[in-house]
Amino acid sequence: MIIAVDGPVAAGKGTLARRIAAKYGLEYLDTGALYRAVGLYMLRNDQSPSDDALAVKAARHVSEISLDDPDLRREKTGNAASVVAANQGVRSALLDYQRNVAKRKPGAVLDGRDIGTVVYPDADVKLFITASATTRAQRRFEELKAKGEDISFEAVLKDLQDRDARDQGRSSAPLTQAADAHLLDTTKLDIEAALEAACRIIDGK
Ligand code: C5P
Repeated sequence: MIIAVDGPVAAGKGTLARRIAAKYGLEYLDTGALYRAVGLYMLRNDQSPSDDALAVKAARHVSEISLDDPDLRREKTGNAASVVAANQGVRSALLDYQRNVAKRKPGAVLDGRDIGTVVYPDADVKLFITASATTRAQRRFEELKAKGEDISFEAVLKDLQDRDARDQGRSSAPLTQAADAHLLDTTKLDIEAALEAACRIIDGK
């Protein structure tokens, strides 16, 4: 079984996808971490994330980059990730990696922006997770604060809106809800309620 979990920044898809994978005994892949790894590689090597050729090279070697590095979670890395993610060469280089994980038995939950539309258009279940921009910014702000990042709520909201605009506006695999995806708005849901709603959709298939 393949479950696609897509949605904008900080909609709660990561936590939800991880919980779904644990509940149904599936593999879990955070595809955003792959784009973040490429973004972080560019930052650490003092390269502009919009240097297309170097970003593609880094993406081809993504399996050699650690996906557990705490710096992957930094706000700056997320912004760089969304710049490299607009590069078609980077997206193509990461596609096989994602599809190979999804092929492993007994299946997988993948979270990202284009899982239901591009990576796995034949996924058994597609969820599109969203929440209001203020709620998402508040969650992200608290997460970053807890990690000790010195950033204001206004800056987080602005980054989130810029990142949404970049992810939705790019020509290659833009963030969009697949026609056959189930929309789940988590603005007023905590993780347990969101998990319950997601399981109802999955079990109803
Ligand atoms: O989900 P996360 O915030 O970690 O993703 C970081 C960035 O990676 C996103 O803003 C998006 O630009 C890019 N991304 C993508 N396609 C995916 C997953 C992430 O373009 N499947």
